Amino acid sequence: MGEAGAELTIDLDAITANWRLLSAKHPSGPVAAVVKANGYGLGALPIATRLFREGCRHFFVAHLGEATAIRSSVPGAMIGVLNGLQPGAEPAYIAADLTPVLNGVGEVARWREASRDAGRSLPAVLHVDTGMSRLGLDADGVGALAADPGLLDGLALRYVMTHLSSAECPADPGNERQRRIFARACAALPPAPRSLANSSGIFLGPDYGSDLARAGAALYGVNPTPGAANPMRPVLHLRARILQVRHLLAGDSVGYNATWTAGCPSRIATASIGYADGWMRSLSGRAVAHFDGRPVPLVGRVSMDLSTFDVTGCPGAEPGAWLELIGPGQSVDAVADAAGTNGYEILTSLGQRFGRTYLGT
Ligand SMILES: *Cc1c(COP(=O)(O)O)cnc(C)c1O
Repeated sequence: MGEAGAELTIDLDAITANWRLLSAKHPSGPVAAVVKANGYGLGALPIATRLFREGCRHFFVAHLGEATAIRSSVPGAMIGVLNGLQPGAEPAYIAADLTPVLNGVGEVARWREASRDAGRSLPAVLHVDTGMSRLGLDADGVGALAADPGLLDGLALRYVMTHLSSAECPADPGNERQRRIFARACAALPPAPRSLANSSGIFLGPDYGSDLARAGAALYGVNPTPGAANPMRPVLHLRARILQVRHLLAGDSVGYNATWTAGCPSRIATASIGYADGWMRSLSGRAVAHFDGRPVPLVGRVSMDLSTFDVTGCPGAEPGAWLELIGPGQSVDAVADAAGTNGYEILTSLGQRFGRTYLGT
């Protein structure tokens, strides 16, 4: 750990607290933990292990490989695989007791055949597209299953689900539209528990409650209610070590293409983090770091492995000291704003070169 130029600390107690808060906000049913993309970059295994210990019994990932990676850590829990059932993958799903999210009638047919071959019913989540136009059954697919429910024979339908496209915008009429299309589809399909809200959907109110919410971002501290105060606890700290400090004269420039020039004598700290670590190049000249609670501006271009900060007036900022990049002084959402993206992309971009420390394992 001492050698790492940057360190990520992930607070599993805070993730647990966020799961509990979301669960309290969603009294109609449990809250599944979405741990796709390695738990939004923070570590699917430690997160799933901890939440399972706390009583979480539903998990979602995107890929089969992500599901098998956490299977033994969450024995008996449902693991839903959002990206669906790829041809030939059926035996792997059965062997690891995984639950495919079936996104079309072809996938339904293949899973039904697998069930017949296995001689027992197999768990499934049925995904209905209500406006994302991304994955899930379209209206024709819903119609086909409604007209012939025998197409679902042999499947233990754990949930019928849909995904909201704009849940973080409560005023968007699309939310209500999707909710109504979903209700209509569910009424046409054989009765099954329903799964509707993502993180932000949980905050849209009781109309968006269902038998299972699916929360990712909010578990990891991203604000599910942009425009209002963040109800979630921050879960991570990112800090980078200062490698060198140099004294610039007025007129000296910094970094590739000399995009920043000192207007007066300045102290510039070069820290061990760059865009290869997910500290994005688009942050150049826009983000800050904090030293001892004081903001120090990022100056010049972020390069692959290094970033430069103006620490004039911070005499303690010396080689070996640490700059805080994400933490009390600057949230994930603030970094995302500065980078022109969302918190999801910041989290999933965090690189693999960091030392990683988990609190509350
Ligand atoms: C990623 C994902 C979620 C979780 O969304 P968050 O906004 O991170 O809570 C839920 N459902 C589906 C289908 C997803 O792809």
